[in-house]
Amino acid sequence: DNITVRELAEKLNKTPAEIVKKLMELGTMASINQVIDFDTAEIVASLYEVKVQREIPEEEKLLQEIVDDESQLKPRPPVVTVMGHVDHGKTSLLDRIRKSNVALGEAGGITQHIGAYQVNINDSKITFIDTPGHEAFTAMRARGANVTDIVVLVVAADDGVMPQTVEAINHIRAAGVPFIVAVNKIDKPEANPERVMQQLTEYNIVPEEWGGDTIFVPVSAKTGQGIDNLLEMILLVAEMQELKANPDRPAEGVVIESKLDKGRGPVATVLVQKGTLHVGDCLVCGSNMCKVRAMMDDKGRRVEKALPSMPVEVMGWSDVPEAGGKVIACDEKIAKQIVELRLNEKKLEEQKKSSRVSLDEFFKHMQDAEVKELNVIIKGDVQGSIEALSQSLQRLSTDEVKVNVIHAAVGAISETDVMLASASNAIIIGFNVRPESKARKHAEEEGIDVRLYRVIYEVIDDVKKAMAGLLEPEY
Ligand code: GDP
Repeated sequence: DNITVRELAEKLNKTPAEIVKKLMELGTMASINQVIDFDTAEIVASLYEVKVQREIPEEEKLLQEIVDDESQLKPRPPVVTVMGHVDHGKTSLLDRIRKSNVALGEAGGITQHIGAYQVNINDSKITFIDTPGHEAFTAMRARGANVTDIVVLVVAADDGVMPQTVEAINHIRAAGVPFIVAVNKIDKPEANPERVMQQLTEYNIVPEEWGGDTIFVPVSAKTGQGIDNLLEMILLVAEMQELKANPDRPAEGVVIESKLDKGRGPVATVLVQKGTLHVGDCLVCGSNMCKVRAMMDDKGRRVEKALPSMPVEVMGWSDVPEAGGKVIACDEKIAKQIVELRLNEKKLEEQKKSSRVSLDEFFKHMQDAEVKELNVIIKGDVQGSIEALSQSLQRLSTDEVKVNVIHAAVGAISETDVMLASASNAIIIGFNVRPESKARKHAEEEGIDVRLYRVIYEVIDDVKKAMAGLLEPEY
């Protein structure tokens, strides 16, 4: 749906500079490589009396979405994620639930860690995601994979609400997923479940018995007390959600975990969300393909098919697919075409990255009349030097080139700074500060120019040189 200013200019047969000017008249400051949304592009095009249409991506032409009819939908098990503060018993709870469910003498009942597992309660099933915590949960969400139907928020009865409990609550609310509170460690003499209930009311989480709508279940992962009750409550919440999927269609799902196995090659745990996955199916995930050679369940048994909400380890991938990636079963020919399309897209992405502004290439871009502005983010150790630097740099602006300091603050270079630089095509200058390790990695991935200095005149010198096209590339 989005288009860069340059692409729009090409389509309208105008110079990029003209489009930038038009955008400015409309009150939008955009550089040539900046991406603008469809609505903005439509307005600009209308100024030239051109009607624009959203492009149907090639992929959508190849892979038409299957719309399920209400009558085809069948109940499916809920998918549950466990969250809570460190040491409150998330892992113990997951282990306890898994162990209590392996029936005595069950064939091949040795549980395997594949990233998720399923338990049977009477005639129902529950799927548990085996990586507890909100980081994994939100990382998956950031990739567009909303797999969790219900969250179990674990709070230790002896410790009460702690910082990560609150964090988890915020992440759960951001996702809009229903949750149950498991008050754990009630076997401990110092356990005080009432206090946990009281503390949570401060976050508007009120137990049913106090007139609220949150289910609280006292449990002990150590003794197993209350676990059956917790599972029943999960099923109750699931029933209210009326979770359904059509099992009679090609499978769709999400990669929960993946790895390169020495003996088996690339393997990925796929959580099926719709349809049924069969051995022999052809899958795409990102730019990877899979002709499903074999599938294993969470007890290490070979299975021929997997229904909605079932996690299975899938073998036969061309390469290791990324966790959080969407998996779609389709015809092999179509899969090949989609992989090709996506690989091409990746290449384009790479090229876009390398066309990002860096100080050494600034002059070149400027000569191509692409860049007339240099956007700069300054991070420094003290306010005084940041201000001095920021003023000196802005004073370097000439009629041809404008230096814009878009953000200046005290502190290490953070991931948010890199995101800002990436969104505004800026360079980052660190003055007596360094990038945080995550920020450094992110900057490398995004191709953001991050420069570190200890002396003000060196910064000014470099920027001056860049403006005059004299700067040697930094290696
Ligand atoms: P996580 O960090 O939330 O995954 O917590 P763990 O499951 O690793 O548990 C942290 C510690 O609490 C471990 O030493 C567990 O043995 C202990 N623990 C967990 N659940 C219980 C419980 O119900 N009762 C008691 N007494 N100890 C527990």
